[in-house]
Amino acid sequence: MRVIGVLGGMSWESTQGYYRALNEGVKAALGGFHSAKIVLISVDFAEIEALQQQGDWHAAGELLGNAAQSVERAGADCLLIATNTMHKVAPAIEQAITIPLLHIADATAEQLTADGITRVGLLGTRFTMEQDFYIGRLEKQFGIEVVVPDQSERDTIHRVIFDELCQGRVEDVSRQRYLAIIDSLHAQGAQAVILGCTEIAMLVNQRDTTVPLYDTTALHALRAVAWALND
Ligand code: GLU
Repeated sequence: MRVIGVLGGMSWESTQGYYRALNEGVKAALGGFHSAKIVLISVDFAEIEALQQQGDWHAAGELLGNAAQSVERAGADCLLIATNTMHKVAPAIEQAITIPLLHIADATAEQLTADGITRVGLLGTRFTMEQDFYIGRLEKQFGIEVVVPDQSERDTIHRVIFDELCQGRVEDVSRQRYLAIIDSLHAQGAQAVILGCTEIAMLVNQRDTTVPLYDTTALHALRAVAWALND
């Protein structure tokens, strides 16, 4: 089994989900007492969030590149960046290491493609829903058309991620708002909706809706488990 490297803490609430999903994935595959071999470096999210606010993606890339080097030095064979948003600086992180980066958008797009989904809704932070680093990858590399919520819906989704989920608060009123937005994306022709922020599964899951949901935390972790066991 190869060692899975995780760059976590963004936020730590969602890194808990990664830790569980990686171990459950290995246990499901190998049974018994088996668990995942993991190197986890967890950053201080306040530093990352401040750089996001300032738009200083260069400094964020440097900070995460250094952390990724620590993950590699500690013996990881691959790297997961445990947040969709910070894949904005994935190229800088990739340059800092020699182990492969398993990209969260690729893990998600591979499953969408396998399921025949060609038009998908996307929920995530404002950065993920409005910039090219994520949507562009889905559209250009995988030919998947992406539908995003309107401006006021995007504001709501972003606010709930930072003011509630990243702080460990799960509110029923926010769940209802998210579900209404998921319905609206479906009505606009999205065959499924990507939970494109690693905290969203804390709030919404497949039992809440008939619209197919693609949870990036789960898909990213599963992809890493398959990679780690394919040795
Ligand atoms: N975990 C979130 C994501 O998947 C948001 C936190 C962050 O900005 O990194 O995008």
